[in-house]
Parts: sequence; structure tokens; C-alpha cells
Amino acid sequence: MERSVQVLKFGGTSVGSGERIRRVAAIIGHQLRDNEGMFPVVVVSAISGVTDQLLRIARFACTGEHELWQQELEALKQRHLEAADKAAHKREGREALQQDLQVAFALLEQGVSAVEMGRGAATKEPGGESHARDRALHAAPTISAWGERLSVLLVAAAARDLGVQAMPVREEVIITSDLQADTLPALGTVVGADPLAQETRVNAARLIHPLIEGGIVPVAPGFIGRTGGGNVTTLGRNGSDYSATVIGEALDCVEVTIYTDVDGVLSADPRIVANTRLIPRLTYAEAARLSWFGAKVLHPRTLIPVAHRNIPVRVRNTFRPHTRGTVVGPDLGGRSAAVAITARRQLALITVENSDLFGAPENAGQVFELAARAGAAPVAICSSSGHHLSFMVEEQAVDPVVALLQHDMGSWRVSHRRGLAACACIGSGFTADPMSPARAITALARERIPIVTQGASDTGIILIVEESDSERALRCLHRDLIAPVIPLVRHEAQDTHEKRREIRQG
Ligand code: ASP
Ligand code: MG
Repeated sequence: MERSVQVLKFGGTSVGSGERIRRVAAIIGHQLRDNEGMFPVVVVSAISGVTDQLLRIARFACTGEHELWQQELEALKQRHLEAADKAAHKREGREALQQDLQVAFALLEQGVSAVEMGRGAATKEPGGESHARDRALHAAPTISAWGERLSVLLVAAAARDLGVQAMPVREEVIITSDLQADTLPALGTVVGADPLAQETRVNAARLIHPLIEGGIVPVAPGFIGRTGGGNVTTLGRNGSDYSATVIGEALDCVEVTIYTDVDGVLSADPRIVANTRLIPRLTYAEAARLSWFGAKVLHPRTLIPVAHRNIPVRVRNTFRPHTRGTVVGPDLGGRSAAVAITARRQLALITVENSDLFGAPENAGQVFELAARAGAAPVAICSSSGHHLSFMVEEQAVDPVVALLQHDMGSWRVSHRRGLAACACIGSGFTADPMSPARAITALARERIPIVTQGASDTGIILIVEESDSERALRCLHRDLIAPVIPLVRHEAQDTHEKRREIRQG
């Protein structure tokens, strides 16, 4: 295929109503006209809240609560029909869309009835138990897949209404592994399946290349996939960002843009820290670390399909399309300070010590193996010497890990401390400027916040503090490492604030 492709992914709030869907359609039209050379392939989520609703329907069908699922389904249908009314203004297109939605809802209802009926039949059939298992495994993905199938219809119709040649992709693009039957999920929940890159590439070429070659913008469902054998699967809850990069990689795209309801990645959580900044560029490694240490903007898996190919991912705001957002891409070098600050809470510190200060055998391998056996991955490894090792785990995992360590490491003393948080100051090349770690530690010292332990590296510094100090810690770290806070007088109009800030910073 000759054309270079960009994937535009719109999340649930971006397609949250008919008006919003029109806005999305306008962005698609704009990208088609103004981004010469980069042809858009659109990936969409279900309307916000719809996946939850579908999963409730799946649960009611499994438990045979007929009235309840019918009510939910009716509400869902109304919501989509109302959205259709607002999304497509021209009569012909709107009627075709309403027709498509009616057909989709009839199929969905059939699917739900089949789940409900299967529930009774399965126990009576020979081998009924494994049938029941199979049904429980496939009911939720099969039903929840409709959220995305419905929103592709709405978005494609809205785009056409604005004069963009667009078509919904009515099949799953992503091919995944089979779901493992030994991990039977709770009723009405989905387990994510793993995308298969090669198979998905072939399938994406089949479904999407012909549209692009015909100059038609494909509008594909995010979140869902199917196995080689034809079972519908999902990539797990909130998996649509991930599905966008999986599809992007399969199409060898130039860039993936995730349109969401925030401006991009900020330098800290704005609910806690004043004066946060939009980060224009982040490396893949910085983004991965940010999400490991608690930032919510990109799902950690999202970068997996694209990072090894150096395909950039841009995060930008559907509702403020003039802002450029944040680009996550390869490391271009040149940084020597923190770009973002984040905190991961509800952690505990486990320390393993041997009283034999000089002759203690090496123990790290055994410690981490036991921790893994107790179901805990270390969140951060803080310090070690021959006779001592300390690391952080999630608080909920601390008891089983400590019990196992105490049981299996006879002569070692195991202690732990709960109620901690890891404040991470993240930036590639962090230690290139020797002042960077010093500034972080000084920031906390000046606020009289004790540092329980810490670890610095070229990629940033992790400071472990009492959880009750963590918000204060974030604020002073942000102030001293990223952006000074100019004291503002409360109760003033926002624009006066802005002016004043400009004057003081200028
Ligand atoms: N609609 C799916 C969900 O709500 C996928 C997504 O929106 O990311 O989980
Ligand atoms: Mg969603």
C-alpha cells in the first residue's frame, strides 16, 4: 500500500453523545484535508458507560433475569437512537443510520437471548459443565463487543453527513489468542485476550487497505477482536487505546493519535498540584515509568505494539483540538531534569536482613523468587548490600510475602513497614545534571518530610515517604524541580490570575 496512514482513536467520552460524535466527525474531516499525505484510519470506543451497561446485560442473561436485561437493552437502544438523531442531520443518511442501528439491536437481542437460553440447556446436555464454562467465558465478550460495533455506525454516518467519505468496518480487525478456560472470569466481566501481530496484519490488510485505496476513511471498532476460530474476544476493559496501537502497527502507520478528554500528559496530577504543565514530548521509557508509578493517562500496554517500531503516539484533547497534546516517541536525548512527578500509594517496604554482616550468602534471587511465589512483583527495589535487601510491594501483598520469607529464610530477619508512597521524579538523563537529585532531596528536607528510603538513576529518582506526606511531597517536588508556584490571590477572576502570572514570570 502506497499511502501513509495515521490512526485517530476516539475514546468513550469523545463519542459520548450525538453532538460529540459530530465534533469527532469534524476532526476526521479536518485531518483528512489538512494532513496531506497521512490518510486517517479511525478507531473508536463504545459511547461512555455503554460497555458497563452491556456487561450488566450479559450478567442478567447468564442469571436469567429476563426483565432486567430487556430494560437495560431498551435504554441502550434509546440512547443510540437519540445520538443518531444528533449525529446525522441529512435525512437520507440519518434514516440509513437508524436502519443500521435497528438491525444491530435485533442481532444484539438475539445474542443475549441465546446466552440466556444456553444457560438452561447447558446443564442438561451431556458434558454440560464444560459447555457452561465455555458460555460463561464467551458471553461477556460477545455481548460487550456491541458497544464498539454500534459506535462505528454512528461515527461513520456523522462523518458522511459532513461530506467525508467514510465507512464502518463491520468486522473485528484484531485477531487474538484464545481465552484460557482455566481463568474463568466472574459473570459480566471480561478477561483480555492477547493480540496476534502477524494474523492481525493480514486481517487489517484485508479489511482496511481496500478502503484506503478507494479514498474512504475506515471507522473500525476498538477494544474487540476475534480468535482464529471465530470467537469474539476483547483486549480487556479500557483496552481501546491498546487496540488503536495494535491496529496502527498492523497498518505500518506513521503516527497514532489518542483523542481523549484531557490536553495530554501533564507534569503532575492537577487535582493535587497547582501550576502543572503540559509535557510536549515524552520518551516511551518515561511514559512507561510514569504509568508504573501511578499516572493514569496512557494504559501501560498501549505503547507495547509501537515502541519497538518507533511509531509515535500523540495524546490530545477532542474538545480542544487546537492544542497539540503530548507526543510519546523515541528518545532524542538532551534531557537532564525531571519532566513529570507522580506518586504510587498503598505500598509497603519489606526489609530482609542477616545478622552475619560479613559472611551472609547472596540472597536477592531467593527473596524475589519467594515474593513472586506469594504473588507480588516488587514495585521498586530500594537498597541492598550483602547482608540486607529492601524493596517495595503493594500493601495488599505484604502479609503473604512476609509470611513466606519468614518461613523459608530461616536465619534472616524480615521486617516490614506499611502506609508508604513512592514519589517518582521522572526524566531521562536525570543524573546528567548533578543538581537534579540534590534538588529533589532538598525539596523534601526543606518541608521536613522524612525520606524513608530512595533510589536514583539516570531515569529519575524515587523517594519513599509516608503516604500521609505524599501530597505535600508531590507539591514541593513539582515546585522545586519543574515549575515554581507563584502565589495567587484567591477569589479573583481567572484572567487577572493569568495576567499577573505572566507579569511575574516575564
Ligand atoms: N469500551 C471499552 C471499555 O469501556 C474499551 C475502552 O473504552 O477502552 O472498557
Ligand atoms: Mg470506554
